[in-house]
Amino acid sequence: SASNRHFFVGGNWKCNGNKKSIRELVELVNAIHVERNSGIEVVCAPPFPYLDFVRSLLKKEFGVAAQNCWITGSGAYTGEVSTDMLLDVGVDWVILGHSERRHLPELQETDETIAQKTKRALDSGLGVILCIGELLQEREEGKTLDVCKRQLSAVAKVVTDWRKVVVAYEPVWAIGTGKVATPEQAQEVHNSVRQWFRESIAPQVADTLRIIYGGSVNGQNCERLAGQKDIDGFLVGGASLKPEFANIVLSHR
Ligand code: PGA
Repeated sequence: SASNRHFFVGGNWKCNGNKKSIRELVELVNAIHVERNSGIEVVCAPPFPYLDFVRSLLKKEFGVAAQNCWITGSGAYTGEVSTDMLLDVGVDWVILGHSERRHLPELQETDETIAQKTKRALDSGLGVILCIGELLQEREEGKTLDVCKRQLSAVAKVVTDWRKVVVAYEPVWAIGTGKVATPEQAQEVHNSVRQWFRESIAPQVADTLRIIYGGSVNGQNCERLAGQKDIDGFLVGGASLKPEFANIVLSHR
């Protein structure tokens, strides 16, 4: 990754953990020694009920992310969580557009819904980890970039300030499957996505935007991925629940 973009590593804990295991996991993360001047940014994304708990235990230099948020402020939206509530308990970031929220049959969030949530989160002052990525079939049909551009275009229609956005490229076929994209495959998409930002948004946004990779990242494969020019960090699922998360955070040298 380039030196003008601080390396970013997010741990997406998904729907896992309980008070006991989360306390232990936070202790593990707190033990990761990130040098102050390294600029490495570490963010943990626990399930909603544990956000406040994690914020109180996690060391201050690390951030906390929610895994979803609602489109508007408070009101009659049973079961939803507003961005104001997230800010109120000290949350810094929200993961939006994750493939599980896009593609699980019970959820099926659309590009437009994700765009609205992104706008709301940014307007409220949260940072957004915006996930994009293609299904296996779409890759096989050569549609990888079309899909990524479609997902980004929906957001670009309603968002103009990208300073608090981190884009996570997560090929769906690589998520939770153990099939990691090769460093070359990932770099190719990251480079094209950055090119899209250069041409469709602004060169300055393209140069400064962090584009992180997600999908079966682990303590073994992180270093070669981190060595790619346009890979600015990782969004980590399974391995973020294990001690090897430390290796991933420190993979940027
Ligand atoms: P994984 O998940 O690391 O378990 O593949 C990544 C993600 O879903 O963000």
